Amino acid sequence: MEDIYNYTLEELTKFCQAADYPRFLAQQVFNWIYRRRLEDFILMTNVSKDARKFLEDNFFFPRLKSLKKEESSDGTVKFLFGLSDGAAIESVYIPERERFTLCLSTQVGCKYACKFCASGRDGFQRNLAASEIINQYLSVSKDLNSKVTNIVFMGIGEPLDNLPNLIKAIQIFLEPKGLGFGKNKICVSTSGIIPGIREFAAASLGVKLSVSLHAAEDGTRTKIMPVNKKYPLKELIAVVKEFSLGQKRSVMFEYALIKGFNDSLRDAAALGKLIKGFDAKVNLINCNSSFEGFEPSPDEAIVEFTQELKKRGIFYFLRKSRGGDINAACGQLKAKFEKPNQGFRST
Ligand code: SAH
Repeated sequence: MEDIYNYTLEELTKFCQAADYPRFLAQQVFNWIYRRRLEDFILMTNVSKDARKFLEDNFFFPRLKSLKKEESSDGTVKFLFGLSDGAAIESVYIPERERFTLCLSTQVGCKYACKFCASGRDGFQRNLAASEIINQYLSVSKDLNSKVTNIVFMGIGEPLDNLPNLIKAIQIFLEPKGLGFGKNKICVSTSGIIPGIREFAAASLGVKLSVSLHAAEDGTRTKIMPVNKKYPLKELIAVVKEFSLGQKRSVMFEYALIKGFNDSLRDAAALGKLIKGFDAKVNLINCNSSFEGFEPSPDEAIVEFTQELKKRGIFYFLRKSRGGDINAACGQLKAKFEKPNQGFRST
């Protein structure tokens, strides 16, 4: 039996055609499951009885287990979902005025162990299937009965470390006959995996890329992001530039301001120099302190930092952190999967 949400329209079309069903069968199914949100082939009334049986015999509709739902005072909602193997992940719904963003996880845990981020604290368990990515969206939009206008891959995990499943999930989100998201409404965030960025560019999905920078000098960056040892700034910036030129897209750099660590005038100047001369914007966010030694920057430091960027002609946004009171803010996601009590005895 196959998980229906792991199939792109193209793959489902091939599957149906291989069994001598017409191409439009897959389109009908996509319409039923992604537009009308049906989870039962029997109810697909415009599909022939024979085709319905064929689908029933070959596919199933998996569900995520809703383990917990917490709402922040600012309207942000964090979901904890259980997967079929007992692992757990989190997704965060962030409503703004006209934008309703859903932040999705791509892995259980994370390999990259950025020092300021909780997601990698317990190491890496496994990649999510495309179906588990899509299902976070289906579950949240069903639960809240509200629309999602934007998708960001900024939850738990490193998206570019799970490329085949990420690409498949994005294709399903973009499919005009299904969920029909616009390319501008989807953003993938990476800690800077160079071969992943190349491969992602080659897939030509046309969606947005965001790179978590957090420091503009190798020494500083390596201290908080071990991935910088393998993929240092010069090469990273070169490949991001290639991406931006090739995809004709501006790229976003994420920069969490950490008090006394990366928030000085000198840091701002280094950042300005590093990303000068190409189509990029900086997304500044004050660090959400989830670890000792990583405190948010004071207001005065932020003012000076942004003035320096302005002086250097760098576009930036100063983002407000959301959902901090329920640990749903950037870097705070860390789905704890509760192991059953092992009957531990002290000796
Ligand atoms: N692995 C990907 C996706 C995670 S996205 C990546 O690194 O981009 C999560 C975003 O939140 C990243 O930009 C990450 O650097 C940022 N982040 C992590 N911890 C944070 C913290 N304590 N404060 C602010 N932002 C943080």
